[in-house]
Parts: sequence; structure tokens; C-alpha cells
Amino acid sequence: MHQVLQEAMSMKEEIISLRRQIHENAELAFDLPKTKKLVTDTLCSIGCEPKPLGGGITCTIGSGSPVLLLRADMDALPQTEDTGLPFACKDGACHSCGHDAHTAMLLAAAKILKAHESELSGTVKLMFQAGEETLLGSQKMIDAGILENPKVDAAMGLHMNFGPCGDFDLHAGTMTYAARQMMPSADEFKIKVKGRSAHGSCAFQGISAVSAASAIVTALQQLLALELPADEKAILSIGSLHGGNASNVIPDEAVIMGNFRAYNPQYRALMQERVREIASGIASAWRAEAVTEYIAGVAPNINDPDLAAEMAGYAAEVMKKVEVIPPVKGSEDFANLCSHVPTFFANISAGSPDDGYAYSMHNPKAVLDEEALPYGAAVHVNCAINWLANHK
Ligand SMILES: [Zn+2]
Ligand SMILES: [Zn+2]
Repeated sequence: MHQVLQEAMSMKEEIISLRRQIHENAELAFDLPKTKKLVTDTLCSIGCEPKPLGGGITCTIGSGSPVLLLRADMDALPQTEDTGLPFACKDGACHSCGHDAHTAMLLAAAKILKAHESELSGTVKLMFQAGEETLLGSQKMIDAGILENPKVDAAMGLHMNFGPCGDFDLHAGTMTYAARQMMPSADEFKIKVKGRSAHGSCAFQGISAVSAASAIVTALQQLLALELPADEKAILSIGSLHGGNASNVIPDEAVIMGNFRAYNPQYRALMQERVREIASGIASAWRAEAVTEYIAGVAPNINDPDLAAEMAGYAAEVMKKVEVIPPVKGSEDFANLCSHVPTFFANISAGSPDDGYAYSMHNPKAVLDEEALPYGAAVHVNCAINWLANHK
């Protein structure tokens, strides 16, 4: 067994215990007092000097350049956990996306790296971020300067993958990644359509916001077919349309909410522009007005091909299997780092449906295989040690 994996395996019970503490005390978005205290206390106990930054926590191990950033997210989802686990969260928050595991794996990696600090050929910068599920957390840390002092040269993140989420090996010990396009962008929009109220018998005296809004919905559904190349993967979905509250009143306001995803930054930008143009164009055709607002958004998560190939090689030394997969469908705010430095994002398999892991991420019944935890920690450590040495 590779020495790094051996060290991670020897910490298995400790990693599981950390993960379960975070799981049971799941917290949301940027309000993570217990989780942040656990992360801070654990880092202090191994001799690191963590400091708060942009809603999250950071610290460094080693010194000088190059600098590799390792990232984990700490927030849970606002849902009532339904796993029946003895350490299930009882507060209406649920770690069904596995961020409890990400945080525990990075803490374990920190402990191993700290023990080998004198052998590191550069600096490892740790990024424990809040608010991933809001898609706003990583940007807050970027704005607060996570990529400076010391300047980061490359960044890496891991995400657990379990349950029926794809046609690839989901057994613990496997890592999967896409060679380039890893995850799509995600943009959430709200379109407010303004009309004019009138009696239902006198529609000609009013402007129906609901009628204009339904015409906008129909037009938006044609956008991908008409304006994107056939081989370009993208998704646009409308999840909500509300307007009016009586059958005999012409409604003066309607609100549409939806989101779109694209793997290519060029087509993300096109959709951002065209959703706005189509909404206001169709609205004005019916004498209404439409205002489009982007509530939250994140860029496509794109792996740097050279970095990905290099890191996959280091990962293969500690994993049973490393598999290249097609792009996955979910989005991740780690992607905000991609436009600043070369990045590598990969999935750690943590429970296959054939072994009974029947629910996937974001399901309140989701359970992951804790056997995967030492593997994730080992990938962080082995990638960090070798990448620093190779880029000295
Ligand atoms: Zn999630
Ligand atoms: Zn997640």
C-alpha cells in the first residue's frame, strides 16, 4: 500500500468521527458557527494558524512557491434528513451533498501534510468555504483575497459521488473526473412581467401579464433549439410561473423563475443575453414590460487538461481506480476559481447503487460510504506533495 494511503487509512476512525460531528451539526449557507469552530479547533490542534476569510477559513502549510490551493465546502442543505442514521441532523439541515465528508477529508489531509511540512517543496493553502449551495461562497473568498498572499498557482477540489448519479464506478476507492468540461454553469433568473389590471370582461382595457408571461415561457423553450449548435450541451428549465389571483381579473403582474446550464462560457454568455432580450421583446409585443434579474450564477467548471492529467496520475498512486468520465450535470461554485488559476475538480466515489446506496446527492435519504473518506484525504495529500515538487 502506498505510504500516503497508509497514513490516511490509519486515520480512518478519526476522519469518520469528524465527518459525523459535522453531519450531526449540519448548518446552512454562511451561518456555520459550530462547523467553523470544529474546523478552526482541529487546525489549531495540529499546529496550523487558521484565520477567517470571506465567510470561510483559510491557512497555509509549508512555505514559498509554488502554491497549491486545496478546497472543501462546509454547508448543508435546507431539508429534513430522513436517513435514520444515529448521527442524523435533527435541525432541518442535511448534509446530503457530502460537504461534511469534504471538510473531514481536507482536515485529515491537513494533518498529514502538517506532519510532512518540512518535506513540502512549496505551500499548500487550505480553503474551507461557506455557502456553496447558494453558489455565492467561493466568490466571497475570492473577493476577500484567497488567491493572494501567497499567490495561488493552481487549485484543486473534490466532491463525493454516490447513489444513482451516473454510469461509472461508484465503489469506494475510485476517483472519476472529466478531461476538460467537468460541470456546467448554472444561472438562476427571475423575470418580472408588468401589465395593467382590468375587469375580466374588458381585457382590451388592460394588459395581461399572465398572457405575456406564458408567451415568454414558450419562446424561452425554443432558445436552445434555435440558437445553439446541435452538439453543444445545454439545459434551460422554467420552474415557476405565478400571476394573478382571480379568474375574472386581468392580472397586472406575473413572475417567471428558471435556470440554465451550459458547459461552454461562450454559450452561457449568449443565454444570459438572449433570455433578457427575448423576455423584454415578447413582453413589449403584448404592450407589457419584462425585467430580468439574475439571482445567482456560477461559471462552467472546467478542468485544466494538463493539470487534470498530472493530478490524475498522482491520484492513481493511492486510488484503486481512476476513471475519465463525460461531463456531469450538477454545478459547483468551485468553478469561480477556474477563471483565475488552472483548476482540477474530481469526484470521489462513495457508494454504488449495487451495494445498496439507493439515493444520490441532495436527497434527504442519501447515505454515503465512509470507506471512501481516507481515499479522498490521500488524494489531496499525494497530489499536493507531488505537484509542489514537480513545479518547484
Ligand atoms: Zn449540493
Ligand atoms: Zn456539493
